[in-house]
Amino acid sequence: MVWGRTLVIGSLGFIGRFLADACLDAGRPTYLLVRPGGKSDAKTIAIQSLQEKGAVIVHGSIADKGSIEKVMRENGIEVVISAVGGERILDQLVLVDAIKSVGNIKRFLPSEFGHDIDRADPVEPGTILYSAKRKVRRAIEDAGIPYTYICCNSIAAWPYHDNTHPADVHPPLDCFSIYSHGNVKAYFVAGSDIGKFTVKTLDDPRVINKTVHFQPLTNLLSVNDLASLWEDKIHRKLPRETVSEKDLLDAAAEMIIPQSIVAALTHDIFIKGCQVNYSLDKPTDAEVTSLYPDEAFKTIDECFSEFARKVVDVPPKFPAKARGGDAATMLAISPMPEE
Ligand code: NDP
Repeated sequence: MVWGRTLVIGSLGFIGRFLADACLDAGRPTYLLVRPGGKSDAKTIAIQSLQEKGAVIVHGSIADKGSIEKVMRENGIEVVISAVGGERILDQLVLVDAIKSVGNIKRFLPSEFGHDIDRADPVEPGTILYSAKRKVRRAIEDAGIPYTYICCNSIAAWPYHDNTHPADVHPPLDCFSIYSHGNVKAYFVAGSDIGKFTVKTLDDPRVINKTVHFQPLTNLLSVNDLASLWEDKIHRKLPRETVSEKDLLDAAAEMIIPQSIVAALTHDIFIKGCQVNYSLDKPTDAEVTSLYPDEAFKTIDECFSEFARKVVDVPPKFPAKARGGDAATMLAISPMPEE
């Protein structure tokens, strides 16, 4: 069964763009909710490129029940995917009300796209994000809206503990920060696969009112594994510095939002092992590679090859900057003596 008109909220954001592209690639009738107001050049270009792929732009905000209801009614929307950012999670309570009022939404995917927030228990301020997401889950369930929660784990990139959008930044070129002993594993999923597999769930009756966990074994790596893989790509060894559990807890305790949230989640992943320390034993659990066994995931090797190509494409400039900066780029692309 293929349901139709799909509304993507937050499609100009980091995760939302992957979702919008995947909807369009799958040939779904795709509507993108764009907030009124001026847009940066980058966002204007993104809108144009999505329109060229067939997206219909609709204007409104999920914080305004009237506008979002109108959008859903006038366009006959049947599926809603939200990827609003961390600071706007509770705006989705208004969206849930609107979906309930409209009445014919066959599936709602709220802004999750991380861990199973009913299981994981990060330190503060990670809990701020999780308790907001939990409130949204309970509101959806209380409203009786058919839902799917996507727990896609980490995005395939170097897991910087101070960067909310790590896939925008290539892995280190100067020094690796290794969390504690660096052996705790996590699932690293390419953004395009987050989009592709999320879109597969939209029409899948097996995952109505389920939590879909992304646990591809091909993408289960430790930070030490990632570091070695990146060294293979850039053909040189980098020094390693240890970021201890205390360092992460101190960064979390600084309460600088959103960086401290990222530090808290990094602690949860790479110290407590929150992606690997539980079993899928609830009747509401589903696992993505079991649902779609014939579909391969993009590997970290492929993702890191892409980062390496981008690094080589960057023309070196001076003066030197910190991590990911130009001097580091120089080092990466300059032939180095064999060690
Ligand atoms: P971003 O902040 O990058 O993007 C949010 C988008 O939502 C923007 O396009 C913004 O619009 C839109 N938006 C915000 N408020 C409203 C509103 N009231 N009405 C309509 N649109 C609105 O978000 P992220 O991609 O960082 O986060 C999305 C989700 O993904 C979150 O749940 C986050 O926790 C998760 N995440 C997971 C990661 C992982 O590694 N697994 C990494 C990063 C995020 P505008 O363009 O107008 O500002």
